[in-house]
Amino acid sequence: MVEVLNGGVAIDTAEVAVVGGGPAGLVAAIALAAAGVNALSIAPQAEADHRTTALLSSSVTALETLGVWPACRPYAAPLESLRIVDDTQRLFRAPEVVFTAAEIGLDAFGYNIENRHLLAALEARAAELKLPRIAAPALAIAPDADGVTIAYGGDEARARLAVGADGAHSLCRTAAGIAMQRRNYPQTALTLNLNHARPHDDTSTEFHTERGPFTLVPLPDRRSSLVCVLDPVGAAALAALDDATLSAEIERRAHSLLGAMSVDEGRGLFPLAVETADAFARERIVLVGEAAHVVPPIGAQGLNLSLRDGAAIAEIVADARRQNLDIGAPEVIARYDRERRADVLSRAVAVDLLNRSLITEFVPVHGARGLSLYLVDRIGPLRRALMREGVAPAASQPRLMRGEMV
Ligand SMILES: Cc1cc2nc3c(=O)[nH]c(=O)nc-3n(C[C@H](O)[C@H](O)[C@H](O)COP(=O)(O)OP(=O)(O)OC[C@H]3O[C@@H](n4cnc5c(N)ncnc54)[C@H](O)[C@@H]3O)c2cc1C
Repeated sequence: MVEVLNGGVAIDTAEVAVVGGGPAGLVAAIALAAAGVNALSIAPQAEADHRTTALLSSSVTALETLGVWPACRPYAAPLESLRIVDDTQRLFRAPEVVFTAAEIGLDAFGYNIENRHLLAALEARAAELKLPRIAAPALAIAPDADGVTIAYGGDEARARLAVGADGAHSLCRTAAGIAMQRRNYPQTALTLNLNHARPHDDTSTEFHTERGPFTLVPLPDRRSSLVCVLDPVGAAALAALDDATLSAEIERRAHSLLGAMSVDEGRGLFPLAVETADAFARERIVLVGEAAHVVPPIGAQGLNLSLRDGAAIAEIVADARRQNLDIGAPEVIARYDRERRADVLSRAVAVDLLNRSLITEFVPVHGARGLSLYLVDRIGPLRRALMREGVAPAASQPRLMRGEMV
């Protein structure tokens, strides 16, 4: 990082400035730094996050390749089986379906980890790589023909390309003049972690209810994370219960599958929506993570998509540098937009369809969902194709997801 003074204002210069230090931004910055790109991170200290993330196996491979995974592994629980239970009271109910990773030759579909441990591992790796960090929010972002100027505190940073990883209310997205399409769901997710009396046997269980999924995902030992999707009033009422009453109520909803439960401190309420940016790249700014797409927490897609965003932009920047191209040029960032669009849209549509098939009152849809799960349960090649697509989408496998450095 070169620092020049411009009329008293210090200017930090870099090839790429990554704005935002959540998991998407840190992964992008680490992947860029690991590829030898002069990257700079601009982000305030991350806020406490009690959520967990189910990292699918291709994301784990990318974290291994970047040297982040060893610090995650002690805090992560393998997901060896996924069980789906139709817990609706409807006429057409789907059969219980269990998918096992061994069927597609994997030890685990992925690993579940608390976000605080994932962030700590990413922070530690960024420090090892000596990634320059500015611990302040970006206040203004101004792209021009040659680069992007980012104001923070009383100073400025200048880069050829900015990676907007600044979350759902992205300043980078606004600066690039990109609009977001949003569809709200009449649902809110209550998230928390809990202890339970019986072992989970490394199996994640998703109860499908009329209001949305109720999903228990293993954490190390006899602990799991819960994402309980309900109508907003029901979710708020549940979140307002005292610990003992809430623990008993969750055990009841889980049909005592894991025995007696006791909730940890820290509950989150997240109104559900699906949002997709009209473009993922414009004006020397590319968008990663929730700045580009927000998907409901169904099927563990959101952050896995974000990691593929980070891996893709690092690969595209590294390729452009090898060809001596301007890394922020329209044709370079257009490749990012093209490569990410199919992956993001296909995931958003799949999650949207699944969610709406649960909450709709339209009876034929219940029949179709039940039939689909029945077919998936019975037809081996279809099952295996679905499982493979779930953990490693064929259409989008940046090099890091295949275990290769960018
Ligand atoms: C209930 C729930 C459960 C989920 N479970 C899963 C799961 O199991 N698997 C999965 O893959 N995904 C899951 N997701 C999705 C996942 O949490 C998100 O995809 C992920 O948090 C997005 O990361 P991010 O880095 O893009 O955004 P964020 O985590 O929101 O980070 C954005 C960062 O940008 C910073 N920032 C904001 N403005 C500025 C600025 N002006 N300047 C600098 N920095 C700024 C913020 O401080 C923040 O640190 C879940 C989501 C929810 C709601």
